[in-house]
Amino acid sequence: MADRISDIWGERTPFGPGGRWPERADQFLTVAEDEVERWVQSACVLCSNGCGMDVAVAGGRIVGVRGRPEDRVNHGRLGPKGLFGWQANNSADRLTRPLVRVSGRLQETDWDTAMTQVVERSRQVIGDFGRLAMAFYTSGQLFAEEYYTQCVIARGGIGTPHLDGNTRLCTATAQWALVETFGSDGNPGSYADIDVCDTLFLVGHNVPETQTVLWMRMLDRLEGPARPKLIVVDPRRTAAAARADVHLAIRPGTNVALLNALMHEMITHDWVDHDWVQAHAVGYQDLARVVSRYPPEETADICGVPAADIREAARILGTGQRVVSTVLQGVYQSHQATAAAVQVNNINLLRGMIGRPGCAVFQMNGQPTAENTRETGADGSLPGYRNWQNDEHVREIAEAWNVDVMQIPHWAPPTHAMEIFRQCENGSIRFLWVTATNPLVSLPELHRIRSIFGQDRLFLVVSDAFLTETAQLADVVLPAALWAEKTGCYTNADRTVHLSEKAADPPGEARSDLDILLDYARRLDLRDKDGGPLVKWSAPEEAWNAFTAITRGRPCDQSALTYGKLRVSAGIQWPCTQASPDGTERLYTGHVFPTEPGYCEDYGHDLVTGAENEADEYRAHDPARRVFLKAAEYLPPHEPVDGDYPLQLTTGRTVYQWHTRTKTCRAGQLNAAAPQVWIELCPQDASRLGIGEGDLVRVESRRGGIQAAARLSGQRPGVVFAPFHYGYFDSPAGNQPDGAATAANEATRTEWDPVSKQPVFKVTAVRVVKLADASEHPATVAGAPARDRTSLQGSDGPADATSRAPGSPQ
Ligand code: SF4
Repeated sequence: MADRISDIWGERTPFGPGGRWPERADQFLTVAEDEVERWVQSACVLCSNGCGMDVAVAGGRIVGVRGRPEDRVNHGRLGPKGLFGWQANNSADRLTRPLVRVSGRLQETDWDTAMTQVVERSRQVIGDFGRLAMAFYTSGQLFAEEYYTQCVIARGGIGTPHLDGNTRLCTATAQWALVETFGSDGNPGSYADIDVCDTLFLVGHNVPETQTVLWMRMLDRLEGPARPKLIVVDPRRTAAAARADVHLAIRPGTNVALLNALMHEMITHDWVDHDWVQAHAVGYQDLARVVSRYPPEETADICGVPAADIREAARILGTGQRVVSTVLQGVYQSHQATAAAVQVNNINLLRGMIGRPGCAVFQMNGQPTAENTRETGADGSLPGYRNWQNDEHVREIAEAWNVDVMQIPHWAPPTHAMEIFRQCENGSIRFLWVTATNPLVSLPELHRIRSIFGQDRLFLVVSDAFLTETAQLADVVLPAALWAEKTGCYTNADRTVHLSEKAADPPGEARSDLDILLDYARRLDLRDKDGGPLVKWSAPEEAWNAFTAITRGRPCDQSALTYGKLRVSAGIQWPCTQASPDGTERLYTGHVFPTEPGYCEDYGHDLVTGAENEADEYRAHDPARRVFLKAAEYLPPHEPVDGDYPLQLTTGRTVYQWHTRTKTCRAGQLNAAAPQVWIELCPQDASRLGIGEGDLVRVESRRGGIQAAARLSGQRPGVVFAPFHYGYFDSPAGNQPDGAATAANEATRTEWDPVSKQPVFKVTAVRVVKLADASEHPATVAGAPARDRTSLQGSDGPADATSRAPGSPQ
């Protein structure tokens, strides 16, 4: 019996290179096993790892989960969120009836009344202000069928470019780093590459807390024979950093400089596969010229790490034979996000380490179904990874939807989320539908976001399972079904698709987002150009078939991936076509890349300025199916520290909570382990400021701040960390600070990456002041003291989850 709150990763099952990762069946039930009436196939949707699981049902309710040992992603393992997070489905405060605002207050009503208001206001806004006054902000937790339906309604039906997802906050840079290098989105590698690699390079990726099961796989390699070398780039001493051969605890905002210095060393020592680069890549000369300006000694001053450590990391990367690199929010939510993420690609490509076992770059996803927003066109892209500047691509979509090509906005890129909110702010957008996300906690500079969402002239619709901070400001709230209360597919970060079957009914009158969207399209009477219904499906499987059909011939081709196939699978990686009916483990095995002008997803950008390349310019330099080595000079962050704000705030996640806690705070074990916000400082900074463990402190920027207990933790001096999960729905005021603020985004600023348009959360200049001694303000926080950051001890959740090797007693 293991306490999977304190023992986050469970027992070790070490294995060596090329061996099969042993299975381990993790399970958590709230009833005795023999009381389970049936098990329903699914996969976890609490991070982008996408672990295969079965859902236990008894008495019409979900009563537990177990990992699927045969699943290719997790081999039976589940992390704390996977084991316990499902309990949110059974929470007593689920929304069960629609709400409409009457005399300033939300009141329960029936579906017909609520949907009539949504449709009438849509018609009025389109009539009075035009289709560009309509906007949709979706989630990273819906299913592919739902995203695709949203895309058809917004882009093909209403004809607005204003559709994006909260995946803009977590994964937009992953998408654009892949597009800029390979010509198309889609991670090239397979999680099985971890099983055979000899080097792991984790850049701004706290795998132990953000993808616990992926870390179990890495840990089992690190504790097995022929352990891979581990390099970690992170200003915090995470559990991964504690195990690293080289930990580069760089100054936040200096990723590009560091990565350039690593390549400087690789080129200086000729750790470059010149034959491969010459045959398969363009841009080497420019890259070599740029990185020549970043010798380790000078770069060490920029990044605040020893030059010797940069050299050693470069030596490991330059001499390893099978290098797996992974990238996440430390890059994506930082300064120069896409420019830095692309440099990680470059490090692998200089050595030709792509498309072979053990050789991969994972531009990792954050939100669990983020990959699907990108494939379906529900974020700032078009379906099937199509290029908005390519008329033939737009024509293909118009043909599939049977609409006039001019109905699909393609005069400019699809609008990114930060621009959508700016247009709400200036009154250009008058109708905003938010689906399964909570921008009143997750977006930067919250005082501004509250003022935008609080405008009378903006009609706000929110579909959610709970009355979130955002839902409290809505004009209409639509109660939505959660995962396991509906059927659909989603794709993880290594392109593995799972089908999740409905296990239980949603509570009360709650409906799936697919049903809500279908109802909206019907009531709005959206038609194709022959007068038929625009949305031609009425069930998840039909929606899936329509989506996979539009992927045919594209890099994310899933045209042979059916519900029937997924029902008997252990996860299938796309592309899945007639030619590869069982899926495809790795992309680019032939080192041929989707960069042709007529096929690529985008013509790319200048990584530093964000300026878009034009089609003619791209064609004139046709890469001829070779990959791009794009260089970038380092620029310092836009908000440097100074005498008034001498520290850098970086926000992030804890292992026990997810996003804005909407679900995880309703799982007792998870919430008990991290019930309150906290602020981490290094002992040196704390001592200088007279702050001790547990003291109440305020961290504030030029825009706002939060109060919380201090945790003395292992991170580089000058850096302050705060988890971003903690909003106000459970406070007296409900959707804003009532007394002490707790949402880290009170302090962050409105800035985004010039290429991916992902907001910057990692480099905010702040100061910290002590408010009271710990004894006066006792608090319970997650995270561990500086001396023991690796243990990540939580507090007192029940010890009732099991981990067992197959065949061993539970
Ligand atoms: S690693 Fe992610 S997908 Fe897997 S169980 Fe944990 S939260 Fe769920």
